[in-house]
Amino acid sequence: IITLAIESSCDETAASVLRNGREILSNVISTQIELHKKFGGVVPEVASRKHLENIDAVVQEALDEANMQFSDIDHIAATYGPGMVGALLVGLSHAKALAYTLDIPLVGVNHIEGHVSANYIEHKDLKPPFITLIVSGGHTHLVEVKDYGEYEILGKTRDDASGEAFDKIARAMGLGYPGGPIIDKLAKEGNKHAIEFPRAYIDEGYDFSFSGLKSAVLNYLNAKKMKNEEIVVEDVAASFQEAVVEVLSTKALKAAKEKGYSTIALAGGVASNSALREKITEMSKSEGIEIKYPSLILCTDNAAMIGCAGYYNFINGRIHDMSLNAVPNLKIGQR
Ligand code: ATP
Ligand code: MG
Ligand code: FE
Repeated sequence: IITLAIESSCDETAASVLRNGREILSNVISTQIELHKKFGGVVPEVASRKHLENIDAVVQEALDEANMQFSDIDHIAATYGPGMVGALLVGLSHAKALAYTLDIPLVGVNHIEGHVSANYIEHKDLKPPFITLIVSGGHTHLVEVKDYGEYEILGKTRDDASGEAFDKIARAMGLGYPGGPIIDKLAKEGNKHAIEFPRAYIDEGYDFSFSGLKSAVLNYLNAKKMKNEEIVVEDVAASFQEAVVEVLSTKALKAAKEKGYSTIALAGGVASNSALREKITEMSKSEGIEIKYPSLILCTDNAAMIGCAGYYNFINGRIHDMSLNAVPNLKIGQR
């Protein structure tokens, strides 16, 4: 089965062709990061307009790279939420037009379920059930993956998402956008024990909170500035990052143990964080729990992950008709 997938929920216009859901034939990503950098974050109207300019060429490139024509495609998969409505509409409308004119099924895909599915592409032997820790720009969720396309949410962030925390701290230190990769890199030169930032375990449950940590870092930076003391950005980056990854790792392992799972799959942009990968892998060793994560290019937004999730929806009969609309606040597991 050949899938043509389209992703446009945020600031990447992406298209991918896959064979049987897990084999990538092409994975084209046109990122708008440079365009949004000068604003310090994604500007919705600017993003939609850029998606519109790019979508046709990106889809064509995905077909060309895969050596495929429209007539070879068995179904279309496209992100229909969550994300920015204008951005989503560009990809979804393009997908609907293609599905209609080619007379093939349309499968709407949840972007977050796409992030989780990146693990199926990376690890050919990975099968549900497992625990997934979803850590992206807009989401932080601990979820049981009961079967393909079947999710049960154990916990989520009560305020900021983990990626959002990285981006906000980086912005406060004037480091640029997106903040995650920059902090990751700087932290390698810093001392993670230099500053004792708070760990928000909240309670014994599986929810997260990052706004207290964010305030603590901002207060630290302000106090240093007031006293005219030097700020060692590497140490701040390392100490902040350690506070985030310690809580994420601890709660994910706790969920796996308590719910009886032997595999945790990391998903989303923050799954590319080197400290998170190291910490949770190290902590899991004594627990007999295996940690999986996608390669870097599959962690952040791409259409291959959307195609993989779409493929499993398709073979399980979960397809959509032409009335499918963008759902900006679509929840994981929601149909
Ligand atoms: P969502 O998927 O929740 O809708 P999104 O699509 O904007 O949001 P992703 O593409 O999953 O988010 O990931 C982008 C986020 O990942 C940004 O917040 C970015 O800072 C973060 N990120 C990317 N690389 C790293 C890294 N190495 N360390 C920490 N964070 C990172
Ligand atoms: Mg992005
Ligand atoms: Fe994403």
